[in-house]
Amino acid sequence: MAEQAEDIDDIVDHPTGANSSEHDDEPSSASSKPKNAFAELMAPKRKAPASPEPEKRPKDKAARWRGALVQYINNPSSFGSQVLRVTPNTVLIKDSFPKATVHLLLLPRSEKHYLLRPNEAFADPAFLAIVREEAASAAKLAAAELERLLGSFSVSNKPRLEATDYANRPPGRDYLKEIKVGMHAHPSMDHLHVHIISKDMHSPKVKHKKHYNSFNTEFFIPLVDYPLADDDVRRDVGFQNGNLSKDFKCWRCGKDFGNKFTQLKKHLEEEFEEWKKE
Ligand code: AMP
Repeated sequence: MAEQAEDIDDIVDHPTGANSSEHDDEPSSASSKPKNAFAELMAPKRKAPASPEPEKRPKDKAARWRGALVQYINNPSSFGSQVLRVTPNTVLIKDSFPKATVHLLLLPRSEKHYLLRPNEAFADPAFLAIVREEAASAAKLAAAELERLLGSFSVSNKPRLEATDYANRPPGRDYLKEIKVGMHAHPSMDHLHVHIISKDMHSPKVKHKKHYNSFNTEFFIPLVDYPLADDDVRRDVGFQNGNLSKDFKCWRCGKDFGNKFTQLKKHLEEEFEEWKKE
């Protein structure tokens, strides 16, 4: 089973520094205590910490972390209800650190493709067609789960819930429209995975800038957009790093929160309450 670190970002420093957001209300952690030079001179020398065993070094830990998704492919039955569906082509799981009310990962099982980056893997049209079809089916499952969780709060869903003639129930709210299906431009996990995620970003696991911006800028590439054209700017690493460090924009109303993560999180709570009621 995967190691229980909260997220890959707790282990790996992102090259753009996009992990960090300005925690505008957090005090600085740097200690400014003045030092006493004499006391320091007389104090017993501290031993240098022993260098960790090779397998305990952060780099190795990160590598194991990045490879963790293959376990669901190789041994789906050992993950209980976290695995939702296994087909000859894919394994569908619940994300362990969900960034929204519903967050699933679709893992293609093809060994020929699963270690390729999305741009490379989806250059194979037959493979892309299979993944698209299974992702569409997974999105329906995600929409049904969203309806199960939130359907009773929705005004537009009320006539459907209250209908007594089951055979002629009105359609109700279209929860499929609230689900996004796509890839991160530069995934942090090694094995190919499609995100199937509700739009709300209402989750305690949304903890820093990359968590939010990777789903709410062009860093998130809808599966329908593959294969990307050769000159598509979303292939460009510089462009994508820029997306991760952009100002926070509310996914629903578009309000700009600059670098104020705490304010964004508060606003996301409010938007969630309104969105539920639509
Ligand atoms: P990406 O940035 O596209 O590589 O996203 C990787 C996703 O995998 C994130 O949404 C993580 O929350 C999720 N994740 C990381 N480790 C695991 C794990 N061991 N089991 C299930 N999901 C995971």
